[in-house]
Amino acid sequence: MRKHIVAGNWKMNNDLAQSELLITNLLRQNKTSDAEVMIAPTFTNLKQAFESLKDNTIEVIAQNMHFAENGAYTGEISAAMLKSVGVKTVILGHSERRAYFNETDATLAKKVDAALANDMRTIFCFGEELQDRKSDNHEAVVEGQIKNALFHLEADAFKNIVLAYEPVWAIGTGETASPEQAQDMHAFIRKTLADKYGSAVADSVSILYGGSVKPANAKEIFGKPDVDGGLIGGAALNAEDFFAIVNAF
Ligand code: PGA
Repeated sequence: MRKHIVAGNWKMNNDLAQSELLITNLLRQNKTSDAEVMIAPTFTNLKQAFESLKDNTIEVIAQNMHFAENGAYTGEISAAMLKSVGVKTVILGHSERRAYFNETDATLAKKVDAALANDMRTIFCFGEELQDRKSDNHEAVVEGQIKNALFHLEADAFKNIVLAYEPVWAIGTGETASPEQAQDMHAFIRKTLADKYGSAVADSVSILYGGSVKPANAKEIFGKPDVDGGLIGGAALNAEDFFAIVNAF
């Protein structure tokens, strides 16, 4: 049985007080689903989030990190720094990191290696742009992103990898991939994994969908057999909406 996971990516939202308020509201929600729940506040709010959630099963995760252990990388954060405040899971490869901060597949391969070397779990994001889908190139693009950043890994590493398919055209746009489009791509991703690592590995990796998931569409998307959860942006900034999505499982 694959894990169901619903992770909230807060992006560059919420100062410390706002983060605390959202966590207070999250703690008021009722969880009825079997999904693992995660939130990714910004770096400056991580420590406080751990303290506020110490008696709760909501996991606090990070949105990004650098691949180097330490040194002259002004403005960056290492895996060891994240671990020192309690972080065990990091999101890597989000399309905004790729688009605005020039993160390439090669950079991401190094980041994934750094996370694994530090016994951290990675939620690895990828997804095609609108022009790729229009030109029917979406599968080739996604396959390339996965192969370039992950296929140097041993099969065993996939115990600590969660995949997140996020079509760029659906992120923050209100436009969601249809449940069928999500299922087709997730099945393709699983086949890509199976061709390289065998079906036991492919069947064990959770594949999340991200891109305008809302309370109104979560149940239908999560109902698809190869969709194991969601990476939620905008709707994760409201506790009721986020838990409505969590409870869609
Ligand atoms: P969205 O963002 O839910 O606001 O579309 C998803 C994401 O970027 O992870």
